[in-house]
Amino acid sequence: MRAWKRPDVPQLDGDGRPPVLYDTATRQLVEARPEDVARLYVCGITPYDATHLGHAATYLAFDTLQRVWLDAGYRVHYAQNITDIDDPLLERAAATGVDWRRLADEQIELFRRDMESLSILPPDDYVAVTEVIDQIGRATRLLVDRGLAYRVDDDIYFDNAAAQEAAPWVLGEESSLDRATMLALFAERGGDPERPGKRDALDPLLWRGRREGEPSWPSEAGEGRPGWHIECSVIALMHLGRDFTVQGGGSDLVFPHHEMSAGHAAALSGHPLARVYSHAGMVAYRGEKMSKSLGNLVLVSRLREAGVEARVIRLALLSHHYRADWEWYDDAIDEASTRLEAWSAVLAGERTASLGAEPAREERAVVDRMRAALRNDLDTPEALRVVDTWVATHPSAVSDLVPSACEALLGIRI
Ligand code: ZN
Repeated sequence: MRAWKRPDVPQLDGDGRPPVLYDTATRQLVEARPEDVARLYVCGITPYDATHLGHAATYLAFDTLQRVWLDAGYRVHYAQNITDIDDPLLERAAATGVDWRRLADEQIELFRRDMESLSILPPDDYVAVTEVIDQIGRATRLLVDRGLAYRVDDDIYFDNAAAQEAAPWVLGEESSLDRATMLALFAERGGDPERPGKRDALDPLLWRGRREGEPSWPSEAGEGRPGWHIECSVIALMHLGRDFTVQGGGSDLVFPHHEMSAGHAAALSGHPLARVYSHAGMVAYRGEKMSKSLGNLVLVSRLREAGVEARVIRLALLSHHYRADWEWYDDAIDEASTRLEAWSAVLAGERTASLGAEPAREERAVVDRMRAALRNDLDTPEALRVVDTWVATHPSAVSDLVPSACEALLGIRI
């Protein structure tokens, strides 16, 4: 599927050092060092409602990761899915009387515009589930043939216990959750622990057999539609291959989605899904996690319509560490606007007056400090403070290095 327009990323003279990232699976900081190409997968949207700041913060975190890799001289191969067929989408379509395909198309287009306005780097492979039904059906059939999946009526479930015997994957290893918590989260996030006939309550659905009144497709797994987790396993294996560099997403995806996707991919390929599992924190508003189901959303598109500049939204989001859970307050816009004005007052002059000149030692030192902050688990708040200090000391820059670094590393073009 078409993604969105790629923003310019100036290439500075980098020093080739990859970032250190917090890995959910091992619960420690690890070096996210690509072999030659950095391969990144970030779970995409279910297109039934507009992009809120929680989504934007997640995609911005992995945009920052890509900018750090690019700055270090790595090529990046980035893939993202769109869950354009799933229960929440069908439920919303039924509730609003809109055809599910139309709802999905409209919301995907709105998401593209939001991402483009925020200068988020687009995926190289942007893949909707409805584009890979055949491949998912084939993968499901393969798991049945290998004895790692089984039928309950017309539906097909992944056999967690059998897969743990056969594949390099252990349920609960990534999330470090006990079984009671896993059961609760599984029920809350699209699972069906109570379904009679399953071998284990936590076995996830791979393929949902055809139901009257629901969209379905013919496939090697029978007539029906894919379950949730298998789509990401299949899309990631197709486009990035096995054992890729970083699997990313919001922290609400750690369990069951990322664990199950990793289990399916390991069962299909015989290798781990990814090397590092990285998760962005949740954004709250008015005391609760921002979510479609609670309805307490601050939408990127609404802010833009209200005249808030995309760079201001971006700076407001970057002022929080990606891994933290934090709360959005409406005055964040004012703070970010003040910061952007202060930066612009100094950096705009540097950008135009000194183009092409050799940077001074102080300018290189500022960029080194920005890089060090971002390499350290994407510490954007610290990188912003480095620029704040530079701007506040009213430097006499001789080159355009600092504004170029703001654009390359933070996506803020002055
Ligand atoms: Zn996913």
